[in-house]
Amino acid sequence: MSSGKPGAKFHPKRIRPSIKKDAINPQDYLKYDFRTSCEDCSHFDSKNESCTLGYNTAPHRKAQQEHDYNITGMIAQCRFIEID
Ligand code: SF4
Repeated sequence: MSSGKPGAKFHPKRIRPSIKKDAINPQDYLKYDFRTSCEDCSHFDSKNESCTLGYNTAPHRKAQQEHDYNITGMIAQCRFIEID
């Protein structure tokens, strides 16, 4: 695929957007009991460890969120999380 201009650099089109992570204030992270993981969500099937809506749970699992937060101070939060 070419942009049509001679010498132009090729930039492949991104097929899927990357996951946006939200920064959380460290004081808030330590003070509050965050319920933002799949394990807290009504749509999480703990037996099969999957999302009943069909979403990829990997970035929103508690262990992954804790790992991301410890490394970057940010976590990926699912926009479809539902807490009863
Ligand atoms: S809706 Fe989102 S938070 Fe809930 S189980 Fe599915 S992927 Fe996880």
